[in-house]
Amino acid sequence: MLKFDESARIIAQESRFVPGGVNSNFRLGMGHGPLVFTHGEGAYLHDVDGNKIIDYYCGMGAMVLGHSPAGVQAAVKAQVDKGILFAGQSQVEYDAAHIICDRIPSAEKLRFGSSGSEVAQAAMRLSRAATGRRTILKFEGHYHGWFDNILWSTAPALADAGSGDHPALVPGSKGQSTADADGLDILQWNDLAAVEARLARGDVAAVLMEAAMCNQGAISPLPGYLEGVQAACRKHGTILIFDEVITGFRLGQKGAQGRFNVTPDLSIFAKAIANGFPVAAIVGRADLMDLFATGGVLHGGTFNSQPVPMAAMLATQLALTPEHYEKSSKYGVRLRDGLRSVLADAGIKAQVTGFELMFHVAFGLDAPAQNYRDLAKSDKAGYARFAQALLRNGVRVLERGAWFVSSEHNDEVVDKTLEAARAAAMEIAQ
Ligand code: PMP
Repeated sequence: MLKFDESARIIAQESRFVPGGVNSNFRLGMGHGPLVFTHGEGAYLHDVDGNKIIDYYCGMGAMVLGHSPAGVQAAVKAQVDKGILFAGQSQVEYDAAHIICDRIPSAEKLRFGSSGSEVAQAAMRLSRAATGRRTILKFEGHYHGWFDNILWSTAPALADAGSGDHPALVPGSKGQSTADADGLDILQWNDLAAVEARLARGDVAAVLMEAAMCNQGAISPLPGYLEGVQAACRKHGTILIFDEVITGFRLGQKGAQGRFNVTPDLSIFAKAIANGFPVAAIVGRADLMDLFATGGVLHGGTFNSQPVPMAAMLATQLALTPEHYEKSSKYGVRLRDGLRSVLADAGIKAQVTGFELMFHVAFGLDAPAQNYRDLAKSDKAGYARFAQALLRNGVRVLERGAWFVSSEHNDEVVDKTLEAARAAAMEIAQ
């Protein structure tokens, strides 16, 4: 059984300087408290207690090549020697742009940013400017960053969320005011008729969604849903935005849009685009994207297209070949199937849903969730106990149920994980 005493000591000490000892609230999570790491390699993280832990956080989904991939490290080291920040253009950002425009179906043009939250803002502003409308339609359980105007109903308590037909907008943080939600409307996801009816009012600038709901759960769009939303958007002059911050380069080289074969007007990427370096992108139709240059729509950022993360991005993209997806998908599928059997053998009712390199485990559900409200009925406390038991057995997973797999999670790592899962399932079943 692993122990985390030194992490606990450091977090307590450093909480005097850093609130909660962490620099993102999403790291407060686990029941035993946040961990402090020394280094990462492949599928493993090493912590200050001397533990070597199999990591399925994968940088909250960013590390699609695992920790410290040699090609990315080398590209970064070479770029650092050439300079850090030019506040001007360099060839590496154009090379990076070309490869994304080549790969992503909706990417006629792109602009780089530094975080998913930021490029979500850019997409909202661009949509409002292009349509002259104000309302952005979002969906329960979908997360598009931590800013006041969009951090609504990302994981609301069902008691606060109103009826399924008319969901209430629920703030995600203290400090938000109802005025922050002025430009928003909300629906349940995967309900095409609801979107069609809402867009028919003619005032929606953009529909913003994760094309597969992965921030909560791992839920595929129902057959025809994405196509139907796209058709409704075209009919009513609304811009369709896919948030591919999680799905991008994880559901395949062309993202969720390639996998489901629906091309949005705009989409945003971050996380896996550069295997852990702070790169984000807003991509889309040339006529929309050109508004940044000639249409009076402002998009800025001191760190945008910083050459070092750009070099990391290029090296990451070069490694994300069809062979990469084929190889890592095999590991992911073995793991997913293995977990299903381990949980079933232990008599734990669970739904394991999602994709090869990103899936979700929900305890206590009889059928796969189709939207946030289904998912919210799962046994979260039971799963958190499993996640904590897994960590004591050397495997780190998010308590909210998500598993991120990289090309480093090979057969040997999967075997070890399933062994730990068996032990953890026995532990919590007692
Ligand atoms: N969109 C989605 C779907 C996300 O999962 C996240 C991050 N969890 C974001 C946007 C925001 O990205 P970032 O944390 O880089 O600001």
